[in-house]
Amino acid sequence: MAMDYGDQSAPGGAAARAGLEQFAAVSSIFDAAEIVLYVADMETHELLFLNAHAERLWGPMVGKPCYKVLQVGQSGPCEFCTNSRLIENGRAAAPPVVWEFQNTANKRWYLCIDKAIPWSDGRLVRMEVAIDITERKSHEYFREQYIGLISHDLRNPLATVDASASLLKLLLGRADFAAAAAPVDTILRNTQRMAEMIDDLLETTRLESGQLQLHKSSFDLAQLAVTTIGELGAAASRPIRFEASGPAPVLADAARIERVLENLVGNAFRYSPPDAQVTVQIEANESEAIVTVSDCGIGIPADDLPKVFHRFYRATGSHSASGLGLGLYNSRLIVEHHGGRIWAESAPGAGSAFRFALPIAP
Ligand code: ADP
Repeated sequence: MAMDYGDQSAPGGAAARAGLEQFAAVSSIFDAAEIVLYVADMETHELLFLNAHAERLWGPMVGKPCYKVLQVGQSGPCEFCTNSRLIENGRAAAPPVVWEFQNTANKRWYLCIDKAIPWSDGRLVRMEVAIDITERKSHEYFREQYIGLISHDLRNPLATVDASASLLKLLLGRADFAAAAAPVDTILRNTQRMAEMIDDLLETTRLESGQLQLHKSSFDLAQLAVTTIGELGAAASRPIRFEASGPAPVLADAARIERVLENLVGNAFRYSPPDAQVTVQIEANESEAIVTVSDCGIGIPADDLPKVFHRFYRATGSHSASGLGLGLYNSRLIVEHHGGRIWAESAPGAGSAFRFALPIAP
């Protein structure tokens, strides 16, 4: 911990030293909780004290101006400096100034509590206690994104359901049962899409909160793929070509891996023409079982390709198909939870191949 106890002969002498020692001892409580505490002169902005935790982050900075060492690109006092709000009528203001701030140097968010306190030599100085709230901020940001997405992306299918239900009511009023089939189909398609979006959102929450429990068992990935694509093909009335070079034994959570396969095949359907070929291939080597889902669809621009596994990312040109941009993100988390990897090869207009690999069962 950096302490400049000052000259023993200076005003205050032993008393000042004792006062500072006491301050340092009390402030060690903040070290234990990994909270930053520092004290700076209110005129010169010179740092007079940093607790050990602050020094771990910024180094031994006593004697230097706070704006130079705690922030970047500051040649003078920061425009957000709270000094002027800490003094009232020449005395320390009673309530502390509490504010949130993203540090310009380490980019972390802090809840800052600033107060003018009398220093050992009698002058008023600024003491700041800063608690790292980066995690909370990122949850807040995620929640905002969530709310934005739910209100925006779920509204479209909901509006379609609403319009189709009104039309259906009209047709039923006229006893036009033959025409009623079309709005019923639209309602079913849209409610199913909404259910998929809600599932994706819930899955993301589970995967990110670390609540995911893998229920692993030994099975043949090729066998699981045959069953899954049979069901998916029948539900979408689309044939899927299947190729397997032999069994692909894995030790994995079958339900989760099925979900990954569903995501990839669902995307292959959605981002290619209705009659276009979709192929699923399984191969195994001595270390990995590899699944490839390929299509002859719209493809993905090179700039977007590395980002499609990011949360909420949707490539340019894909916005006509409804989706939240969570399917591939969730798939990546699931595959990585299994110690596997997932990647894609694609070009605009030339189709896409999505692959994932799982460790082969021992
Ligand atoms: P969603 O499909 O719900 O938007 P995903 O996470 O499954 O979310 O996919 C993210 C983005 O990746 C999609 O929005 C789309 O731009 C692109 N994408 C995924 N699969 C394909 C594919 N087979 N062909 C073309 N683009 C795809």
